Amino acid sequence: MKGEQFQAVRGMNDVIPGVSEQWAFLEEEIRQWLRAYAYREVRFPVVEPTALFVRSIGTATDIVEKEMYSFVDSLNGEALTLRPEGTASCARLVIQHHLLYDGPQRLWYMGPMFRHERPQKGRYRQFHQCGVEAMGFAGPEVDAELILMTARLWQRLGLKEVFLHLNTIGSSATRARYRTRLQTYFSAHTDRLDEDSRRRLGTNPLRILDSKNPAMTDLIENAPRLMDDLDEESRIHFEKLQRLLQQNGVEYQIDTRLVRGLDYYNATVFEWMTPLLGAQSTICGGGRYDGLLEQLGGKPAPACGFALGMERLLALLEQQPHWAQRFGVHPEVYVMHQHQEAWALCVAETLRSSGLAVHFHAGGGTFKSQIKRADASGAGWAIILGEEEAAHQKVSLKPLRGQGDQLTLDVMEAIQQIKSSE
Ligand code: ATP
Ligand code: MG
Repeated sequence: MKGEQFQAVRGMNDVIPGVSEQWAFLEEEIRQWLRAYAYREVRFPVVEPTALFVRSIGTATDIVEKEMYSFVDSLNGEALTLRPEGTASCARLVIQHHLLYDGPQRLWYMGPMFRHERPQKGRYRQFHQCGVEAMGFAGPEVDAELILMTARLWQRLGLKEVFLHLNTIGSSATRARYRTRLQTYFSAHTDRLDEDSRRRLGTNPLRILDSKNPAMTDLIENAPRLMDDLDEESRIHFEKLQRLLQQNGVEYQIDTRLVRGLDYYNATVFEWMTPLLGAQSTICGGGRYDGLLEQLGGKPAPACGFALGMERLLALLEQQPHWAQRFGVHPEVYVMHQHQEAWALCVAETLRSSGLAVHFHAGGGTFKSQIKRADASGAGWAIILGEEEAAHQKVSLKPLRGQGDQLTLDVMEAIQQIKSSE
């Protein structure tokens, strides 16, 4: 009986050759970029206690209300969740390992996140983030550093048309006052609120501002602004940050409706947006979360960070001319052989020991059919090992691109010839 064919889970992507090289390129660029800022990598599990996310991200948020992959471990009854983001885990890790005892920490992570969203271009159920977190710094110079950092990455990757949207959401006291003002305003317009927003009116009216429902755009546009009733400390922080950005030539736009979709933020919030990706316009989002470490049981410590969406970055990179062509991967040498398997394997290993990338022919066939494979492999050279070569303990070296004659050489001479042509 023919076996059932499986498909990857909806909204979760495979990465196949041709694309995997693009991922590796982006990841390496990111690693180098982070090194230049002296941030250090952390790795934490893909699964965490559900309560970690509920307490940090907030109950009345899209993520916690409807996007988390939560389950009960049937073996011990633990409530677990596939991580929907990294900041909460990173804060947990910092607290658990007492990292702040050694002073402030600049950290980063990269890896898959999981959210049960409606899959569409740029929005997946398993997606990848690179997150950068500066913990123990009150800022605003660290806020500025993080923003300058992102700007440098776009520059490094040659991305154009990415724009910085900046806002401050003040202290928790400011937001508590603002909540009341928003409740008053939206309560007068309940007929124009969608179901989610009506529910949030009581619990978390700031979230209404984050709604992506186009029918509510006008209503949100005319809502009272937090900025008009900002606390003094946040105002000074925000002004300093803006000065630092201006003095460093970073352009931005103040967006008073920008609140971010997670509850742990305060003061600075920002997003980098692009008009080139349709509805999924944010490639990077972040801000300050001064209360989070204490909220998760750690000593109070200020913190600031951001996460960038790797799939969206790759989608932007794909729009660059000749992007995909850069990722053909070719061996340097193709080893052809007939009736000489053991020797051919040995020669291939010797070539690799000298640092060459070698495609070993497998599956037999005539030299005529092998040479077709060798050409298709994109290798620059073929090594041919037949009875003739074996008898003389020599190899034949054939250039596959350009002109030049086939040569009969010792293995070491052949290696030299290949390497000197690089
Ligand atoms: P969005 O408003 O697009 O839903 P978000 O505010 O929920 O984004 P964050 O939690 O701030 O996103 O995550 C940071 C970045 O991760 C986003 O700016 C985006 O680039 C990326 N991202 C978030 N959710 C997804 C997803 N489901 N698929 C792909 N990328 C995502
Ligand atoms: Mg979202």
